[in-house]
Amino acid sequence: MCETLDNAIKYGLDFINKGNTASYIPELRKVDPHQLGISILQSDGSSLSSGDYDRKFTIQSISKTVALMLALMDRGQEYVFDKVGMEPTGDAFNSIIKLEIRQPSIPLNPMINAGAIAIDSLIEGNDINHKFNRLICFFRKICHNDSLWYNEKVYLSEKATGFRNRALANFIKDSGVLEGEVEEVLDLYFKQCSIEIDCRDIAMLGAVLAMDGISPITGKTLISKNICRIVKTLMVTCGMYDASGEFSIKVGIPAKSGVGGGIMAAVPGKMGIGVFGPALDKKGNSIGGIKVLEYLSCEMDLNIF
Ligand code: GLN
Repeated sequence: MCETLDNAIKYGLDFINKGNTASYIPELRKVDPHQLGISILQSDGSSLSSGDYDRKFTIQSISKTVALMLALMDRGQEYVFDKVGMEPTGDAFNSIIKLEIRQPSIPLNPMINAGAIAIDSLIEGNDINHKFNRLICFFRKICHNDSLWYNEKVYLSEKATGFRNRALANFIKDSGVLEGEVEEVLDLYFKQCSIEIDCRDIAMLGAVLAMDGISPITGKTLISKNICRIVKTLMVTCGMYDASGEFSIKVGIPAKSGVGGGIMAAVPGKMGIGVFGPALDKKGNSIGGIKVLEYLSCEMDLNIF
């Protein structure tokens, strides 16, 4: 299986020259686009890695799955899905258009930026530090990694340039979706997106989802089966943004990407996969990462459909 991972990386490397790092976040523009790595964590707790699997990168939109789980635990399914929908958009992850043309004016799902910002406003806590601490503690528990923290430079870079996210947040504040103060919720969102991880961390997140909430390391239940099911379903329909349909056909594994170059995938009952390749395609998904997953899905027969 080690050889399969090495071959998947070799295959993916041929595509990365066609992509670019996320240039709209100045700190991410500086990242070396030639990196590509993978880790898998299997249901028995064993792991395998290849390529640049130990490089640190920011989690970006993959964090939306963690925030959603916490909000569902805090507020319950009914309350959460009253504020945010369950449908794919067919638009870019940072698009505002559907908020304006659809009624009710709620974000269509928790995996787009507007939806994730709304979800952040539902996380319980006395203030923003308390909310972020709850989120990072929950995430550390899932990843079995107490050293997880956010990258200050990326956080400040997003905060300084996140005009589009500010527009989305203000829009959903106006329509009564966002709870609390706009700038505070955005602060939580920018911090959460800047959490630094490596492939092993997101393979662990994927594995916990794959095992219906049970940690393959400790055997403890961390998340309910129902919440895992909701998150995996949204990963299939919306996890790769407006490329989710194509990804489902070509790879067929619930997955969530981030503009930091990560893709977290959960193969139900079998394993979690973490991939990192910061060169992105036009839709903001890791170009090499998708190819690595395509290769693995085919070679290891992982397509769930
Ligand atoms: N922090 C990024 C943003 O808000 C996250 C987007 C992404 O990973 N697709 O634009």
